[in-house]
Amino acid sequence: MRIPVFRTIRSALAAVAIAFAIVFSALILYLTAQRHESLFIQSSSADLSALARNISTDLEPFFSERNVSEENLSNEFGVTTTLLRLEAYERVMFANVYDRDFTQLYQYIGQDGRADKQTVARLSQSINEPPLTEFYADGYLFSVKQITSGGALQGYFLIVTHMADQLSQSQQELIATTIPTIIFVIVLMALVYYGVLSKQLAPLAKLSEFTRRIQFTKDYSERLKVSGHNETTQLVNSVNKMIATIESELTINREQTSKLIEQQRTMTRLANYDSLTGLPNRQFVMDTLKLELSRALRAEQDLVLMFFDLDGFKNINDSLGHETGDKVLIDVAGRVSSLMRDGDLVARLGGDEFLVIPARETSEQNFHRMAQRLIEAFKEPFCYNGLDLYVGVSIGISKAVDANFDVNDLVSNADIAMYRSKAAGKGTYTVFDSTMNEDHRRKLMIANSINAAITNDEFKVHYQPKVAHSGSIVGFETLLRWAHPVLGDVSPAEFIPIAEQGGKIPSITAWVLERACIDLPEIKQHFSQRFRVSVNLSAFDLRNANLFDFIHDLFEQYNVDPRFFELEVTESAYLESFTASDKFFRRISNMGCAISLDDFGTGYSSLGYLTQISIDTLKIDRQFVQALETSERSRMVTGTIIDLAKRLNLTICAEGIENPAQIEYLLSQGCDHLQGFFFSKPLPIEALLQLSPHFDIPSDEANQNQLSIPY
Ligand code: C2E
Ligand code: MG
Ligand code: MG
Repeated sequence: MRIPVFRTIRSALAAVAIAFAIVFSALILYLTAQRHESLFIQSSSADLSALARNISTDLEPFFSERNVSEENLSNEFGVTTTLLRLEAYERVMFANVYDRDFTQLYQYIGQDGRADKQTVARLSQSINEPPLTEFYADGYLFSVKQITSGGALQGYFLIVTHMADQLSQSQQELIATTIPTIIFVIVLMALVYYGVLSKQLAPLAKLSEFTRRIQFTKDYSERLKVSGHNETTQLVNSVNKMIATIESELTINREQTSKLIEQQRTMTRLANYDSLTGLPNRQFVMDTLKLELSRALRAEQDLVLMFFDLDGFKNINDSLGHETGDKVLIDVAGRVSSLMRDGDLVARLGGDEFLVIPARETSEQNFHRMAQRLIEAFKEPFCYNGLDLYVGVSIGISKAVDANFDVNDLVSNADIAMYRSKAAGKGTYTVFDSTMNEDHRRKLMIANSINAAITNDEFKVHYQPKVAHSGSIVGFETLLRWAHPVLGDVSPAEFIPIAEQGGKIPSITAWVLERACIDLPEIKQHFSQRFRVSVNLSAFDLRNANLFDFIHDLFEQYNVDPRFFELEVTESAYLESFTASDKFFRRISNMGCAISLDDFGTGYSSLGYLTQISIDTLKIDRQFVQALETSERSRMVTGTIIDLAKRLNLTICAEGIENPAQIEYLLSQGCDHLQGFFFSKPLPIEALLQLSPHFDIPSDEANQNQLSIPY
């Protein structure tokens, strides 16, 4: 329980002090009263003693030997008269006269109303023998004196006064005069004490108010100013120091908190946004997609996803450097974002892959239009340092209904559709349909059977001859064939890219190289002229640092003269990791192998690199050869390539020759070697060994008769 007076130290201390003062005053008063009583009794005793002595002296004549023996009446009268003098003393209760044996002879009863006979008798009997002195008992003062005559004891005189009233009256008077003084002193003391306390404890009160205010305002920059050196000011100073510590801790805390918040923001940004383009990243878009899919499912609506990647981005990165590649990605992000409307979401999944979730484009017409807008937007080149860079996009579109509203299926369907676009010729878009899943499953099956194909000897190498303008065979290209146990014959054009994606290329290349080494002696035996067996390398082979050693060891193992070998590589594969490829090909070339650049004309638009790479032969791609009859542009490109190769002292081989007209045109332009179904399809070793080492090259006239190429 809280006593209100103790709510503040000041009032508690004052209350204790006042209580102490009161108790102390009461004690003093009590002691004073005691002292007063004894003094009062002393003084009254002295008065009574004097009176008793006077009366006893006055009684002496009546107690002379003679008078006592005569027992005369005049004595009695004399005693009575003497006793009656006591009437002047109204406080005398009674007086007794005794003989020497303490037998009462006379008695005087005073005017006091309380002197009734019984009390007088009781008090008289209480004294049995004379004490010869004054004493106080039960509120009565007694005085006993001897009555002598001629020096001899004749009797006693007792006088009793009633003292109690008198004493209490005197005490009351004493108290009545003392109490006001005491009260005055106490009040004064309390006031002084309270004042001193207030002064001493004022900083404490201020401190209490100050801490309450700080608790409320949380302003820890405030300080309490007090003067003095007592404990309270020390306490105030300590509290000030404590608040200063809290303030600095708070500042540190605030700084750390804001740092944490900033870090949190950065983490969220890093976790959800692509640092290069500032677009939402895979994590963010996948989360959003999940939410959007469940929302669309609830609302019974469809949702469209557009997935695209950049055509030839890898080449840009490799030839112009990653800095330019990054710029392209940033500009692509900007260009795509500018095409979007409110609510559309563009995200970068990684590399050159982007994803668009259009907000409303669920109708066929709308998203077809949107895909076209996207493709159109990329027809404008990106310009860096005065260089125009054309970057195309291949788009895959998938719909939530086709993916059963499953996020992974939706993305994977868009991916499948996007690869369709790439295969169909870049810069196109494809909308996913369920038949594409079949293709996907087939791809998966192929990918999963490659290892088994190597161990189960399902692969076979076919050789396609290359013919010089004289007609004699100058080489054989090894082309892989695969009789799949379930899918039947699978073309390398289909399984090589899948093997590349699955990282299976090194084992395939190793297998083909070894096969060619094994077959070489037989081929050499059949074809006595100089020729080269060419093996196709993929871009993935060139990333294999052990390839040179492997080939070198293989040639040693099979005792192969490297001058019988050629390696074919596409220009994009060569340039993909230029430094490593160049080093590898220079070593290969030094060993005696030839190198030819396959499918020339299909990849790069820049020809500047041709002077820097170590190759012997340029292979003009089949698409130019086959379009010679129909396309003026193809004829021009082919003519230019041949001319260029001649200037660079390179051998030219044209592939995909199917008719004499192509041969005639190519030879007229100075083409060195010819390869195609016209001479022979790729053949298994057994069939190859049946082949004549020399082909007839169709003459001009015969050519003219068969078809005419407008050149
Ligand atoms: P490539 O190296 O450009 O091979 C030439 C392709 O053209 C071969 O297709 C060949 O059969 C085909 N061809 C040759 N003459 C004619 C013709 O007159 N008309 C037509 N229409 N086609 C002709 P194939 O064998 O289907 O190989 C396709 C591609 O697969 C090859 O293109 C090569 O890039 C790759 N490839 C084949 N075998 C291997 C291999 O062992 N390793 C690697 N890495 N790639 C290989
Ligand atoms: Mg080839
Ligand atoms: Mg080729």
